[in-house]
Amino acid sequence: MRLVSTRDARHTTTFAAAALGHAPADGGLWVPASLPRWDDVPALLDLPWAERSCEILCRLLGDEWERSALDALVREAFDFPVRVTAVEGSTHALELFHGPSLAFKDFGARFLARVVSASATGPRTVLTATSGDTGAAAAAAFLGRAGVSVAVLYPRGRVTPLQERQLACLGGNTRAFAVDGSFDDCQRMVRACFADDRLAADLGLTSANSINIARLLAQVPYYFEGVARVREAQPGRPVVISVPSGNFGNLCAGLYARALGLPVEAIVAATNANRTVPDHLESGEYRARESVATHSSAMDVGAPSNWERVRHLFGGDLAPLRSALRWGSCDDHETEQAMRALHARGHVVEPHAAVAWRVLDRALRPGECGLYLATAHPAKFLDLVEPLLGVRVPLPASLAALLERPVRAEPLPADAALLAARLREGAAAGEGERAPA
Ligand SMILES: *Cc1c(COP(=O)(O)O)cnc(C)c1O
Repeated sequence: MRLVSTRDARHTTTFAAAALGHAPADGGLWVPASLPRWDDVPALLDLPWAERSCEILCRLLGDEWERSALDALVREAFDFPVRVTAVEGSTHALELFHGPSLAFKDFGARFLARVVSASATGPRTVLTATSGDTGAAAAAAFLGRAGVSVAVLYPRGRVTPLQERQLACLGGNTRAFAVDGSFDDCQRMVRACFADDRLAADLGLTSANSINIARLLAQVPYYFEGVARVREAQPGRPVVISVPSGNFGNLCAGLYARALGLPVEAIVAATNANRTVPDHLESGEYRARESVATHSSAMDVGAPSNWERVRHLFGGDLAPLRSALRWGSCDDHETEQAMRALHARGHVVEPHAAVAWRVLDRALRPGECGLYLATAHPAKFLDLVEPLLGVRVPLPASLAALLERPVRAEPLPADAALLAARLREGAAAGEGERAPA
């Protein structure tokens, strides 16, 4: 797949180079130079999940990968179920949280881990900022992979205790930094390290954030699965998909799926109180800002990095973007109301899915059916879910075991130079060579 920079299409690269961490020199993000529009989507939708996912990724990446190798890689990465459940009348949930870290980030992280292992020619350092789930998924996906070490930055005190354990007690080739700052600070520090060419080359820096195009492409197949199942349940009705959004990587993948020909009436950009994008779509003016902390912490992003990709897909033009999207937001009070309302209908959901459902519910028009992305397992947000709904959420065994383990995060001020120094020390000490604890 030929990729170009969002800022200057004269900068180009291959999928493998982009996945490994090569960044455009102009400060932009890699995007597909063009996307085909497939004319056999109905036939694709008839395929089973694994076979269809392989087919989609082979079509996109077939110029760089042997089909059999990519096929094996995709089947191994996506070895957990994707479920679509009926919520009420015309609304369904696409459950993306049945992977090892219990959030949709497992799709991107597990695919990326295998792409990196297959493509790397020397040691790599996977560096990633997380608001909770990316770090957990990346640490789990790369744990124990030879020649790769992982460094995860998270805002101290702003991830759930369970998320903190998922990313900070694995040990082995993984390292966690608890940063005194916000997720946006973590992102800035990571970006600064990637912008340092010497550091990036010396450490073989690779990003596991959604600025990595491999993650976004791995998220395209489940949009096809969602539409296939909804059309089976409600034939002939237009489908609207609601995406609970923070950094807007997931929504960007949905727009790619739509550009490839997936029949989606509209995609709903659903945010919490961090309204950078809804405000932009309403007023036309784009104003990035500091994030505010909410219940749906993985969406606490005030300067969403993938918005640049979304804008690029529509040639920087707001009019077609506004017709492809609907949008809305939901504050913590409304999120709690949505969680209660869903519980009354028999569904226990965590705050991110609740935001998606609430905004979808307002955006749906008569005759349409809605699909919202349930991005995390309710067990990941126990401290909110259990007291609010008065339920017990059984913890999956893999997570219960983690709660017994000590957090081994390294505290770090929000300072990119200090991070760079720690990474160099780590590499010198051969962090990546230690066996998993
Ligand atoms: C990361 C995350 C989101 C936001 O996804 P983006 O691709 O950053 O917009 C939503 N929900 C959960 C549970 C997440 O972990």
